[in-house]
Amino acid sequence: MDALTKELAALDARSLRRRLQVVDEVLPGGKVRVAGQVRLNLSSNDYLGLSQDPRVIAAAQAAAAKWGAGAGASRLVVGHLALHEAVEARLADFKGTEAAVIFPTGYMANVGTSSALVGPGDVIFSDRLNHASIYDGIKLSGAAVQRFPHRDLNRLEQLLREAGAARRRLIVTDSVFSVDGDLAPLADLAALKARYGAWLMVDEAHATGVLGAKGGGLAEALGLTREVDIHLGTFSKALGSQGGFVAGDRRLVDYLHNRARSFIYSTALAPMVLGAIDQALQIVVQEPERRLFLRRESENFRQDLLSAGLDILGSETQIIPVLVGENDRTLEFAARLMDQGLMAVALRPPTVPPGRARVRFSLSAAQAEDDLSRAREVIVATARAMGLGS
Ligand SMILES: *Cc1c(COP(=O)(O)O)cnc(C)c1O
Repeated sequence: MDALTKELAALDARSLRRRLQVVDEVLPGGKVRVAGQVRLNLSSNDYLGLSQDPRVIAAAQAAAAKWGAGAGASRLVVGHLALHEAVEARLADFKGTEAAVIFPTGYMANVGTSSALVGPGDVIFSDRLNHASIYDGIKLSGAAVQRFPHRDLNRLEQLLREAGAARRRLIVTDSVFSVDGDLAPLADLAALKARYGAWLMVDEAHATGVLGAKGGGLAEALGLTREVDIHLGTFSKALGSQGGFVAGDRRLVDYLHNRARSFIYSTALAPMVLGAIDQALQIVVQEPERRLFLRRESENFRQDLLSAGLDILGSETQIIPVLVGENDRTLEFAARLMDQGLMAVALRPPTVPPGRARVRFSLSAAQAEDDLSRAREVIVATARAMGLGS
């Protein structure tokens, strides 16, 4: 344990040590009670507030009452309940695809899918800023990886050309990037994948429920559903509960049932979670006003920070970073906001490159306009007091 103590001390010395923060209570309006103080939660992925929606909670309770607290087995053994079947059908309809498969988490969907689809002798082309679970899937797959600079299509095309006759080629991208809040150039990626005979896999974790007329994500918003081969997403963010998924061609889903180890060797998602997902999917489709509110408030937020001369790194969504730079100043910015009732996280290396530490804000449709406009004022004033922006 002495070796671990030393490593932790080294992290501390570089302002890189992470600690768990207890949330004592989850409150309405997108607020939490932490360390005895009620704070506006600007760090949550519960973008539509559905984790607290009484209809979603009731559906989870009803599913538990009917089916039990757990599924009892993995999907291929005897854990594939009629509930899983029904929710996957609803999900495929929501995504506009032939079929869909649910994994226990989004992390497991990524790890299981990449490692099933490609292997040694194949090449994966991955945007540098893709989520860690994509990189873990790549590592597990044993395929060669070509990381291209963030959204750099010229470099990607060059790498595709150089990869030549590789057995299988997979282009993978987040649709909304979780650290910068910007969007993938999806139409161009689709054109490249067609030109070079590659597959295109899109992780819509932060876009599901948020983008598109029905909330299906960026591919839906851009009319590119058919161009994307592998649609990945999670129920753990805007959908408010837990679980990951892949949607696409029936053959893709059948193949994953047979080859995705994180699907095969893990217990089926609990019935209560399926109940929550089923209800949340209906609300997402039927209540577009939630994402419209989120979009409008996000625009106001970005506008006010930009007007204050802050660097929001090209954010186009409800995820809005403010670049600070050094780790200790970033921690100080977050701590000052904390003291004023705002909960926001400092993102430091290795999540972001050295010298590019930032505080990331994410908004929720559960939050009141007044609370959000006050938050913007506090952020701008605090940044100014610290000499950030102009
Ligand atoms: C959060 C996230 C995941 C992981 O999803 P979980 O359901 O939390 O495991 C995967 N990909 C991206 C882009 C994410 O942001």
